[in-house]
Amino acid sequence: MRFEFATATRIVFGEGTAATLPELVRTFGTRPLVVTGASIERAAWLVSELSAEVFAVPGEPTVDLVREGARRVQDSNCDVILSLGGGSAIDAGKAIAAVATNGGDPLEFLEVLGQGRAIVVPPLPFLAVPTTAGTGSEVTRNAVLGSTEHGVKVSLRSQLMLPKIALVDPELTYGLPPAVTAATGLDALTQLIEPYVSVRANPLVDAICVAGIRRITGALRRVYHDGADREARRDMALASLFGGLALANAGLGVVHGFAAPLGGSWKAPHGALCAALLPHGMAANVAIARLLTGRKEASEEDGIEWIRELCVELNVPPLRAWGIDKADLPGVVEKAARASSMQANPLPLTGEELLRVAMAAL
Ligand SMILES: [Zn+2]
Repeated sequence: MRFEFATATRIVFGEGTAATLPELVRTFGTRPLVVTGASIERAAWLVSELSAEVFAVPGEPTVDLVREGARRVQDSNCDVILSLGGGSAIDAGKAIAAVATNGGDPLEFLEVLGQGRAIVVPPLPFLAVPTTAGTGSEVTRNAVLGSTEHGVKVSLRSQLMLPKIALVDPELTYGLPPAVTAATGLDALTQLIEPYVSVRANPLVDAICVAGIRRITGALRRVYHDGADREARRDMALASLFGGLALANAGLGVVHGFAAPLGGSWKAPHGALCAALLPHGMAANVAIARLLTGRKEASEEDGIEWIRELCVELNVPPLRAWGIDKADLPGVVEKAARASSMQANPLPLTGEELLRVAMAAL
């Protein structure tokens, strides 16, 4: 047996650790750029403490937004970037840090869409601080960017893009509303299931996935119904972190293969799309079914049914709720088949099989 497992990110986990951020940032630079979500108030304390520049990411990040951010870094001579927010803010900050030092247009570096130009210059030091529990982007080496022009989402990817520090403070997620908790939590679950059954899985990835899935099966329902459940919030924050480590090392699969073109063309949150697709796209796997249901004799169908029921309880809307139509699906299937995530799916799925998955999730 041979395998590799890589991460170069220093992980700081725990309630209250966010208070150490100013000190951590100062070890990397003196002119920070703080990248945050639509409401910049949540980062106000950090911005004033560090006298930092602030850059808001109002929605899921795009090529245009990263271009603007990189210009901002150059204009203000920033030497360190910190993202405080959900996956969008983290991916935006990660991409800005790389484009700022490598020069040129973000589009040049994109896989699938662009020329796939390599990131060769180390990005600016980047610190990632998630405020949702789902994407795991604080420990991955890619940033997912949308291109409105091409109607697809693709990655900017390099081993050099791993954040220097991932600081995960579960307290930052206490205020998340139930719908965001559900969508991001189901993204985390997907990001533990897909690497586990991926063609690139290895024993270390498996161990992380099993530990993460166990935490989610206990915590996601609790945290959806009671956002103040500290233990459940902690479990979700850990599971999300585990998902990031797993996907960075083993890739994803059919659900994320679909999430790329769907998220590129329709204004639906990534987590919500994954949630709608998960019970249908889940590559049937007996081991996963046992893990989810906690029953030794559970079948593949039991595992799928368990996720289906969870989606109903968490009020996950079907794909058509986002304006996706039956007539759109053949085009989506074509793009999904080419998505990088699809290459890690345990089974090569035909166009017809992909269409069946998408129809079921509609
Ligand atoms: Zn995801």
